[in-house]
Amino acid sequence: MIDAPIPEVGHNDVLIKIKKTAICGTDLHIYKWDEWAQETISVPMIIGHEYVGVIEAMGSEVTRHKIGDRVTGEGHIACGYCRNCRRGRKHICDHTMGIGVHRDGAFAEYIIVPHENVLKIDRRIPDEIVTIMDPLGNATHTTLSFPIIGEDVLVTGAGGPIGLMAIAIARFAGARNIMGSEISPYRIELARKMGANLVINPLEKSVREGMGRLGMVAGFDIGLECSGSSQAFNEIIENMYNGGKIALLGILPSSTTINWGKFIFKGLQLKGIYGREMYETWYHMEKMLLTGLDISSVITHRFPVDEFQEAFEIMEEGNCGKIILDWE
Ligand code: NAD
Ligand code: ZN
Repeated sequence: MIDAPIPEVGHNDVLIKIKKTAICGTDLHIYKWDEWAQETISVPMIIGHEYVGVIEAMGSEVTRHKIGDRVTGEGHIACGYCRNCRRGRKHICDHTMGIGVHRDGAFAEYIIVPHENVLKIDRRIPDEIVTIMDPLGNATHTTLSFPIIGEDVLVTGAGGPIGLMAIAIARFAGARNIMGSEISPYRIELARKMGANLVINPLEKSVREGMGRLGMVAGFDIGLECSGSSQAFNEIIENMYNGGKIALLGILPSSTTINWGKFIFKGLQLKGIYGREMYETWYHMEKMLLTGLDISSVITHRFPVDEFQEAFEIMEEGNCGKIILDWE
């Protein structure tokens, strides 16, 4: 923890005073300073990109926000000019920059964010929930990628924060059977609470056996990969019904191999998910939260920011859902 100057507000920027932040898996990679972090992060860098705060100052060109607005922000800054940006697909911009990865982020009392990325959220949604709208957006983008009403859904990595929220969204959006697969006993319990019909531990029971318990015969219509594990991805392919659709959010190792014959002859579809659709995913999230989507049990720990080290240690152990740091 260091003393940093309050950042300068550019013409198109918004200065946000941070109220709460949450810790993302990305922050843990940086904290541990692993190979990815060493290659990606140029130091010094203020990390963190999940936050809620209040607008304290704005640049001269900013007209769509007000001082005092309670806001969060889309963490991917798109260039606005590449082919994808210009065709409305900013989430897959050619030149995306990540807040708290490529430029200073939210683990500080103040953050600067380009005004376009700033989102004022309906005040009926509590601060803590606004803090985790970034990963909720990952889960929303993943889960709503394909029509899900009445479908049987398999969520792998079901007890990670994103898997947990994917279960809640699938339930909210009208899925039929939702089966989770998760290897952490602590997180299996969390996934059960989110509304899955069944959560299996693949180290003890196969997905196929789980299907039997749910009275399913054909296989899953939708697979949501939220673990980043090659085994889990293979289990999805193995247990999909013909014509099924898979959304791939978990970042798989490049060594991952799958049974391509199965993939092809089942006529499966695969979609890579990056970030949140800008900004339709934000619209969906806000409306779902206002009409009954409950993700509050995904938050398991809260710390004043001075105890951040303990928070990171718990993240590392993995016996947690989302962890909130309070800056006030
Ligand atoms: P997390 O690591 O907290 O959760 C992953 C969960 O998968 C853990 O609970 C773990 O126990 C479980 N798991 C591991 N191996 C498994 C297996 N073989 N079967 C079933 N479960 C298994 O991660 P998270 O924050 O919830 O994020 C989920 C994934 O999405 C991560 O891989 C993360 O890197 C990735 N991610 C991608 C994007 C994107 O834009 N594509 C954004 C955020 C996160
Ligand atoms: Zn672009």
